[in-house]
Order: sequence, then C-alpha cells, then structure tokens
Amino acid sequence: MVVVLLGPPGVGKGTQAVRLVDELRAAHVSTGDLLRAARREGTELGRLAQGFMDRGELVPDGLILDLVREHLAGIDGGTDVLFDGFPRTTDQADGLDEVLAAAGRKVDAVVLFEAPDETLVRRLSGRRSCPECGAVYNVFFGPSAAEGMCDRCGATLVHRKDDAPETVERRLQVYLEQTAPLVAHYQVHSAELTRIGADRDVEEVYADFRRAVTGLGGAA
Ligand code: AMP
Repeated sequence: MVVVLLGPPGVGKGTQAVRLVDELRAAHVSTGDLLRAARREGTELGRLAQGFMDRGELVPDGLILDLVREHLAGIDGGTDVLFDGFPRTTDQADGLDEVLAAAGRKVDAVVLFEAPDETLVRRLSGRRSCPECGAVYNVFFGPSAAEGMCDRCGATLVHRKDDAPETVERRLQVYLEQTAPLVAHYQVHSAELTRIGADRDVEEVYADFRRAVTGLGGAA
C-alpha cells in the first residue's frame, strides 16, 4: 500500500509517520530527511538543494523526482510506503504516479493533516532537530530527556535554519501556493483522502491516523 501524507510544515506529519512506519514495518520516504542527509554527506544534490531549503523554497521537481526514484529502487516492491513531504507540486504527483505505475503500484490513499497557522508557527519555533540522526523534538510539546541533547544518539540538537520565523512564513506561503492544490488533484484522481485535525494531543491524532491507514487494509 502506498500512502501520501499531505499537510503544511509544522503540522506534525513527520512525527506521526515515524511512529506508524515503526509499528507497521513500512518504509518512510521523507524527501526533507533525504535532502538533509544529502547535505550532511556533502553530495552534489545536497549542495544544489541547500540554497532552496535555507530560503524556504522548493527544490526543483527534477532533482526531487530523481532522488525519489533512486530511493524507491532500494525498497522492496511489496513494502508499504508512506510518503512524507512528497509530492509537493502537481508535477511531482504526476511523476510519482509514473514511477509507481512502472512498478505496478499506485497511490492508494492520501492523509491530509490540518492545523491553524498559529499552531504551525508555534510548533516550528519550538522544534529542535538532531543534525546526526534526524530525530525531532519540541521544547514545548515533546522535549528531549536532557535539554539540548538527542535521546537517540547524544548529539547536540539544533534549531533548523529553515525553522527561523522569516523562513517559516515563506514556507507556509509556498505550501499554500504550490502544495495545497494537491488536495484537489488527489480528489480528482480518486485516491481516498482522509482529513485529520492535527491541532490536538499527539496521541489522539495518532489514533485517527493509524485508523485511517490500517483501515485501508494491506498495511496492518
Ligand atoms: P521538510 O522537512 O519536508 O519540511 O523539507 C524541508 C525543505 O526541503 C523544504 O522547505 C524544501 O526546501 C525541501 N523539500 C523537501 N521535500 C521537498 C519536495 N518534495 N519538493 C521540493 N522541495 C522539498
């Protein structure tokens, strides 16, 4: 089963995705995580993506589709996949359909996480990320056990450059302009779409999210 997670930056879809893929032994494909890994490793892609990411702009579709194609080639065709932060444009959605069709698969469901802008801004301002292993914490909602230190690997946590207030504003605008139209796109393309109110306790959101995905059959 292939599930696309849609929603603005800061809505918590990454946190929810990590938990569900753990439980379902599915693959988590987060283009944001893949790009940050490419930057850490100093690859050509990481270098090309850097400026776009730091400004809160989207990395060009061609680069993203190559990245996803390459990453999917390493995942067994029978594995359930949750896409997080991808696709972000209708061209990426069309590209994904093509890649999946070549493997005899399709997007089975779309889960849209929603929350008011004030919530997104608050969450992003409190977010702290591990530059080594990619774990994400929030100083208000889900802090690490020892302040400023990653529970998983002990590295010093950072406030991502693109979580700074001016960049957050731009990212929200980019989401509205370029990614929000995907909701209508998927409604037309008849993948099942479930809306989840994410401005609630993380456990309540998870219960709804889990039900939405496992209720589809195939993943549980
Ligand atoms: P994220 O962690 O998903 O919020 O992604 C962080 C940044 O990486 C975004 O603001 C974009 O600059 C870039 N990025 C991640 N995924 C994509 C994508 N599917 N298309 C274009 N840019 C992306």
